[in-house]
Amino acid sequence: MYHHRNEQMAAYAMSIEHHGGRLHGDEVHPYRDFFQRDRDRIIHSKAFRRLGYKTQVFINSAGDNYRTRLTHSLEVAQISRSISQALGLNPDFAEALALSHDLGHTPFGHAGQEALNNMMKDHGGFEHNRQSLRIVSFLESRYLDFRGLNLTRSVLKGMMKHKSIYKCDRNLADVCLERGKENPCLEAALVDMCDRIAYVHHDLEDGLDSRILNTENLAELSIWNQTWERLYKNQKNFSKARKSVKIRNIIREMMNECIHDLLTTTSDNLEKLQLKNLEDLLKMPAENYPVKFSPEMKQQMNLIQNFLYNNLYRYSEVMQMSRRGSKIIETLFDEFRSYPQLMPVHYQDQIDQDGLERVVSDYISGMTDRFAFQEYSRLTGLQIS
Ligand code: MG
Repeated sequence: MYHHRNEQMAAYAMSIEHHGGRLHGDEVHPYRDFFQRDRDRIIHSKAFRRLGYKTQVFINSAGDNYRTRLTHSLEVAQISRSISQALGLNPDFAEALALSHDLGHTPFGHAGQEALNNMMKDHGGFEHNRQSLRIVSFLESRYLDFRGLNLTRSVLKGMMKHKSIYKCDRNLADVCLERGKENPCLEAALVDMCDRIAYVHHDLEDGLDSRILNTENLAELSIWNQTWERLYKNQKNFSKARKSVKIRNIIREMMNECIHDLLTTTSDNLEKLQLKNLEDLLKMPAENYPVKFSPEMKQQMNLIQNFLYNNLYRYSEVMQMSRRGSKIIETLFDEFRSYPQLMPVHYQDQIDQDGLERVVSDYISGMTDRFAFQEYSRLTGLQIS
């Protein structure tokens, strides 16, 4: 059932001949294929480096051991590569999608995105997936002959989660139209699932490390108890291990099961479908789409997510940080809209083409948590401790 390295890719994989070309002509590289190059361009981008200073749940300065969007993206890439490999899909392609999936996020996590979307409500809104596409197709500026990273059409399509783009990103209109008529490729659908697998489990771990969650709270999750008991019975060193090591083992075990479930369920579904080629997959009825958890695992994941929502994301200190983040974004937005000359010149130059609000939104959403703090202090004279 599982494929191994060097074995031919499955017929329905995003193999390299499906790259679809680039928006701006591009020569072939002597030893990297199109998707490997796309992945490399993403890694070398400014937006990618900034992920290291952006919050997922905890504000970036909260502690050195918490996940950032950068480490999260690397975890998603690792899981996506493994699963793609095992299913005979294209691991380089999956990796490019995983590494780029969070590029468009604002500072201060989801609170930041909500605040910015609210400020942009009369100007086309703000949404992180559309912003990721705007970054790779326009905002990154490092080549002489074009703006953006000039990624292949297949990677751009794979990145489009909602089949939509901002109105001002006209250069993507054709790609978006094509994407609108198709299912996502398997690699894209899997990256989406791996994103969820990664954040659910690392939020549990970070939540425990921060002591907002504790093992007593977690006892309300039956999967936690069952895993604990199984390890206790089957691993002779488990009972002697430090509590923090026990926790790591339980979470690793839960995550492995989850990945295994996704892999086997998807692989069984694929076997039943007998797809002849990629086209079959892209055009098949969406309700039979093969990338899925088993019903039991789906329910399990929902329970864990509800638990996190109630016990971590809604926890007062986390909420406080989120509220503070929203306020900062609102203040920055008002200031830059009123005084665009306070933004760097290359942003000001873009106003005629894309409109003031879109440019302000581009500038703010690109900020890291700490840079947003600094800009807030610079503009208001107020210090944030
Ligand atoms: Mg993510």
